[in-house]
Amino acid sequence: MHDVFISLGSNIGDRYNALLNARNLMTPDIVPVSFSKIYETPPWGYEDQPPFLNQVIKAQTELSPSALLERLKGIEKEIGRKSNFKYGPRLIDLDILFYDELIYKTDNLTVPHPEIINRAFVLIPLMDIASNFIHPFYNQTISNLAKAVEPNGIIEYRGQNE
Ligand code: AMP
Repeated sequence: MHDVFISLGSNIGDRYNALLNARNLMTPDIVPVSFSKIYETPPWGYEDQPPFLNQVIKAQTELSPSALLERLKGIEKEIGRKSNFKYGPRLIDLDILFYDELIYKTDNLTVPHPEIINRAFVLIPLMDIASNFIHPFYNQTISNLAKAVEPNGIIEYRGQNE
């Protein structure tokens, strides 16, 4: 079994249910074992779009990194993500953050996800469930990496019905 961290994000439609559906569609071959809180976060990259809901989960899987990526892309499709411009609005976005302590790079997959260290909307949820996890590439704890990002505008999300 491999321990993986996956980030979930949504900023159009019923954002809360998109996260819920994505988690439900993962089983049985990806088994979520712990969940961060859900955060509402300002758009990133391209700013003229609605705010996101973001969450990070830890899960267990027997899938290889590439098979895991394919499964996550399948879930994105099932939830109905239309192909969109980079950083634009999305019904659901699923990224592999970590896969055990693996450092791995191919044409279509980089693990750990290269943007983790720049993204408060990933590091803040990761703090909920993995503050002592050591980033295998930078050899620093999540907690240390989180100190270097600005949590501007990121708030815990308490609503459930949209
Ligand atoms: P985006 O649409 O911005 O989420 O980008 C998705 C593309 O990034 C996918 O088609 C993947 O091939 C590629 N990618 C590279 N590394 C990762 C990763 N760690 N997790 C998810 N997607 C990745």
